[in-house]
Amino acid sequence: MSASVQIGFPHMRPAYSPMTLGNMRANGVRTIAAYCQRVDCHHSAVVDVSALSDDAAVPAIGRRLRCTACGRLGAESRPNWSETAAQRPIGDPWDVLGESRAGPKWSDARTNAS
Ligand SMILES: [Zn+2]
Repeated sequence: MSASVQIGFPHMRPAYSPMTLGNMRANGVRTIAAYCQRVDCHHSAVVDVSALSDDAAVPAIGRRLRCTACGRLGAESRPNWSETAAQRPIGDPWDVLGESRAGPKWSDARTNAS
């Protein structure tokens, strides 16, 4: 029998477990978004991580990235959640309208044609 006294939270894990590419892919995300940590840069980019294995941790990948704008090594990285919006099935009207895509709206064209 153990004589040790537990104080605090027995269920608290010694280290938090970061999201891995496996977790991310299970959620339908295949790329990560990286953000430069330099205060005056703020460069961000989408990184293709398809060559990396499922057990690679997302934050660890960011630490190995070098900013293409300022050359700083190490970026904040997180799953590119916006990618899931771009992967809607073809034919879905939301895919045609695309919140992020610029272009003429149907209503505008109809108004101008009158
Ligand atoms: Zn940068």
